[in-house]
Amino acid sequence: MSPNRRDFIKFVVAGAVASGCPVDMALFAAPAETAPSIEGEENKICHQVRDGKMFSRPPVSANHDVVIVGGGMSGLAAAYLLQKRDFLLLEKEPHFGGNAYLMEYQGQAYATGSAFADNEVAVAFAKEVGLEPLPVNNFDPTIVNGEFVADTWGDGIDKLPYPPPVRESFQKFRKETLAIDYDKREKELWNVPLTDLLKGYPPDIKLWWDAFGASSWGCRSEDTAAALAVSQLQWMASPHRKDDRYTWPGGLGALSKHLVDILQPKHGERMQTGSTIIAVAPEKNAVNVTYMQGAELKTVAAKAVIMATPKFITRRIVEGIPEKQDEAMQQMRYIPYALVNLIFDKEVYRKGYDNWCPGNSFTDFIVADWVIRNQPGYHPKYNILSCYTPLHEEERRLLLNETGARKIAGDVLTDFQKLLPATKVDPIEVHLYRRGHPMYMSTPGTYTKIQPLLRAPIDRVFFANTDAEGPVSSTTQAITGARRVVQEVEHRLAGRAMPNDQEVWAVQLSA
Ligand SMILES: Cc1cc2nc3c(=O)[nH]c(=O)nc-3n(C[C@H](O)[C@H](O)[C@H](O)COP(=O)(O)OP(=O)(O)OC[C@H]3O[C@@H](n4cnc5c(N)ncnc54)[C@H](O)[C@@H]3O)c2cc1C
Repeated sequence: MSPNRRDFIKFVVAGAVASGCPVDMALFAAPAETAPSIEGEENKICHQVRDGKMFSRPPVSANHDVVIVGGGMSGLAAAYLLQKRDFLLLEKEPHFGGNAYLMEYQGQAYATGSAFADNEVAVAFAKEVGLEPLPVNNFDPTIVNGEFVADTWGDGIDKLPYPPPVRESFQKFRKETLAIDYDKREKELWNVPLTDLLKGYPPDIKLWWDAFGASSWGCRSEDTAAALAVSQLQWMASPHRKDDRYTWPGGLGALSKHLVDILQPKHGERMQTGSTIIAVAPEKNAVNVTYMQGAELKTVAAKAVIMATPKFITRRIVEGIPEKQDEAMQQMRYIPYALVNLIFDKEVYRKGYDNWCPGNSFTDFIVADWVIRNQPGYHPKYNILSCYTPLHEEERRLLLNETGARKIAGDVLTDFQKLLPATKVDPIEVHLYRRGHPMYMSTPGTYTKIQPLLRAPIDRVFFANTDAEGPVSSTTQAITGARRVVQEVEHRLAGRAMPNDQEVWAVQLSA
């Protein structure tokens, strides 16, 4: 495409980049005496904190049973499960949803993050809250050298447009991986990188897994815990497999939107957006939560606090985290991630749902309305393709300004058009949604050694969010974490012993 034509395409850049800005949030939890004034909206505060400004803590103005910090899927699920309690849900962005947030173009939904549920936990939860999941029913294709290959790891391997020796290597890798006794080797596989299993194979196989891993669990092959690829391939290539993935137009953002739609009419005044928590301070009989809402600082007291925020933020806000738990939180790594939605006003592509494109600036793209495309009477005006674009950690800075973000979007568009030259159609708009640290990396040891240490409650403070669970960042784990903490909270408020493996945590933390 010529640069001139590109100038006519509208590029829209949005997203929660402030959450990823290099803020020293330790300063948030500064003692009250050091506190001057507060002004400005969210980004401004963020930058003031980075520059060393201290914040005051006003006296407690309200009391609640439970304060939930963070309104992503985990916080929303916790709010849903705590409806009988006097809860207060606080979210820093102007909207709920976190990484599962749906946007619309002229009434057509598209994802800005989370795509599909691949586990009965999320599917069952969706049904429980009244949203019927729609089946994907399409094993993942790959597009290489302009060729579409259906069901890559099923019968697709022999059709991949690689030289015969490379195709044979794909077959060999598949066979050898299927032969792994996962149950026997599980422990070892969680603690070694995927590259250990890829030794001796041609680079094309690594390239495929680099794309798949970065998009799905935040890691390219050298950083991936081998167990993930093995279990994934044993599912994708199994003769007994069933595609048990479900979604909606707009991906799992449809689920978070649905939760907001059912909770807000009943509890709207207890669900606040634009509220950035700056300190969570345990006191003798309560926990004080200080947050900035607009230009105003407020402190509320709660009998229990659920931290549904990612741990790189949590550890900066909560006071009194034991050293070992804090160290574990600090060890978590997160990738920067952009979602580039290409909006066409013509039919361009609806051949496969989640299309893998190794070796490009984006890893895969999803057809936004896939699960409703064949519904009778459905005649969409637009064809929206969501290009998943995980970045390397050192590329995070590109998301901090519009120029960098537009470059990413431009690269995605260029690669997309090279990949599918027959397309020959320009999108009418390109929407980029950027996030600085949305997906934790499932590196060797994260699931087995780090995550078990993250979630130990500290008296009245409880830790949810997908990154407390594992093995990968997913909606299922966000919901699982919410269910766990709600149980813990109920036990604590009733003065009963914790339901979970407290002793194990205690041993691990003191080891
Ligand atoms: C691009 C992408 C694709 C994905 N695809 C899938 C998929 O297909 N299937 C799947 O199951 N999962 C997928 N995931 C993972 C899934 O989206 C997440 O695991 C899940 O949404 C996490 O929800 P959460 O509530 O645990 O965390 P988050 O979504 O991170 O929510 C945390 C919330 O806390 C808020 N917050 C942070 N700091 C503060 C503060 N100081 N004060 C107040 N609020 C604060 C944030 O703004 C955010 O809304 C994907 C993730 C990404 C990024």
